[in-house]
Amino acid sequence: MLKIFLLFVSLILTSVIFAPATYATNPLINFNESHSAVMTQTTKINDTLLNANQPSQNKDTSTLINYPDVNQYIIQNNINHSNVIKDSRMNTLPKLPYKYGTYKGVVIHEVGEDNRTLQQWVDRMYDTYNTAFVHAFVDNKEIHLTAPSEYYVWGAGKATNPYFYQIEVVRAYTFDDFARSVNNQAWLAAYMLKQNGLTPSFADKNKGIGTIISHNAVRQYWGGTTHVDTIAYYGKWGYDMQQFFELVTYHYNHM
Ligand SMILES: [Zn+2]
Repeated sequence: MLKIFLLFVSLILTSVIFAPATYATNPLINFNESHSAVMTQTTKINDTLLNANQPSQNKDTSTLINYPDVNQYIIQNNINHSNVIKDSRMNTLPKLPYKYGTYKGVVIHEVGEDNRTLQQWVDRMYDTYNTAFVHAFVDNKEIHLTAPSEYYVWGAGKATNPYFYQIEVVRAYTFDDFARSVNNQAWLAAYMLKQNGLTPSFADKNKGIGTIISHNAVRQYWGGTTHVDTIAYYGKWGYDMQQFFELVTYHYNHM
């Protein structure tokens, strides 16, 4: 295990050094082409490492680094969701009625910056809620509800906000923490769908129509925002929205 762990550490370092923008490999995103030469080089390095050490790894060309399969890791290690905490400040936020009385799906975000803890993100959100706020933040240890599900939030732009519940994942720095944090995000997304009698459907691959949508797909199909999360951050860990959607479905089917 230690060897495998060290391999992952070296792969993380390789990715940090060579590929700050992994989303450039995503065929859905046509900008940032300038990174492609660097990407090819990094892919070769990783392929060499993997051929030597992990011949059975999935060769998904949409990801740069072959970490263990995140969803399998979560399921095989029986990783449960973390405790759900309601912030005492959640009723101090604007009370914005949804367009159709309640939410019709869940927008999936990542915070977009390194080096802030969940608590720091949450405190910052209450300080700056007049510009943006979301329903929940999750990390590897906590599901922190920041706004009541009965009202919409300002997380993804005017076109989308009045229809969606919205969840941010805080950045992680180890594979295990990443797996636990997206597991919390997927579990909460599944729970919120179930609460409203909605079933999981993947909007990113269906022109923005569906109950699970990334902020990036909001940008592509709904507009009103320039953000591209969670593509690059998930990609750093060999993860993508399709796999996230499958994890949401897994939790949904086990509730
Ligand atoms: Zn976002």
